[in-house]
Amino acid sequence: MKRAAVVGGAIALAICAVYGIVQAGWSLSASLTGTAKTEQTASAGTAQSASAAPSPSPAAAPLPRPDLIAEATGSIRPAAPLATSATAAAAAPPPAPTAAPRLAAPACANRNALGVARTIEIDTAGGPGFGSQHFKTYDFLRDHEVVLTFDDGPWLGHTPAVLKALADQCVRATFFSIGKHATFYPDILRQVAAAGHTIGSHTWSHADLLATVKKGGPDAAKEEIEKGASAVRMMAGAPIAPFFRFPDLRHPPEMLTYLGERNIASFSTDVDSWDFKIKKPEELTRSLIAKVQKAGKGIILMHDFQKVTSIALPQILDQLQKNGFKVVHMVPKGTLATLPQFDEAVRNENKLPTLAGNKPAEGVIRTISE
Ligand SMILES: [Zn+2]
Repeated sequence: MKRAAVVGGAIALAICAVYGIVQAGWSLSASLTGTAKTEQTASAGTAQSASAAPSPSPAAAPLPRPDLIAEATGSIRPAAPLATSATAAAAAPPPAPTAAPRLAAPACANRNALGVARTIEIDTAGGPGFGSQHFKTYDFLRDHEVVLTFDDGPWLGHTPAVLKALADQCVRATFFSIGKHATFYPDILRQVAAAGHTIGSHTWSHADLLATVKKGGPDAAKEEIEKGASAVRMMAGAPIAPFFRFPDLRHPPEMLTYLGERNIASFSTDVDSWDFKIKKPEELTRSLIAKVQKAGKGIILMHDFQKVTSIALPQILDQLQKNGFKVVHMVPKGTLATLPQFDEAVRNENKLPTLAGNKPAEGVIRTISE
């Protein structure tokens, strides 16, 4: 996303087409069952780990830098008058040469939509940490501002429903996708990218990295992080953010240091929806809105993997708007550089179809007769 394009309302010009990858012959059942079980276990661990997790290492919490978080003003606002947009476009600074190229979404058609109030650009150099449950250094939100984050996708049915709810309200969110899930549903992940949401990663198989470090050493945990990032990047078919969320919010100090060296930011949360525990959409909405009101603002953790969230999200967004909350969209200053050996490891996953370097389908296949 180029800011000027967004501000100037020329968003529709930059829509990238979504190209599906044929998912051939994947033995999904075993993997899906395994992952789903992991989610239940992992989810239960999320809450338990919140207070028990270690403090971030110095590498994850560098000294505050005024240039770390920049505001990209005048992002998508529903029903913005043309004159305002033009003024904002004129006032917007030119995009930096290193700015991450981002996909733009269609302009907002819903004049009463919640919309995006502000877009915040995050410089991930040094691996800063965000979310007051674990990281206290940076707090970029004003009163009544929230950031929407969704973990553990992409997932069939649920993620598209989440995307629709977000699109209906013209809001943008951050998705922390699981590498393995991305290889199951690359076409869904590409829809996330095409809608202009920010995509970060959440390991290859949702491993508890504290346990992974203990059992297999730091290299095993690095592999989980890097392979997950490579898979998400490759399946998204577009640059992704150097944003990472630890499964179950369990932060091994060695891995925080490592992410710092890799210039990848870590995201904990301010408001945990616990949507993995709550089964009724109405109950989830009530509970989450009460938590957000109590906190006053914050990064909200939800799961596009969870059915209840996909059903409740329209109500949640409606209630956020009715209660005067505004949505802030986080974007990275630069894009994630994956490591070639882990790209290769993803390609070598058995049953993975050959990846044609993220080329659009028509660059590979064309009809010569019908
Ligand atoms: Zn997760």
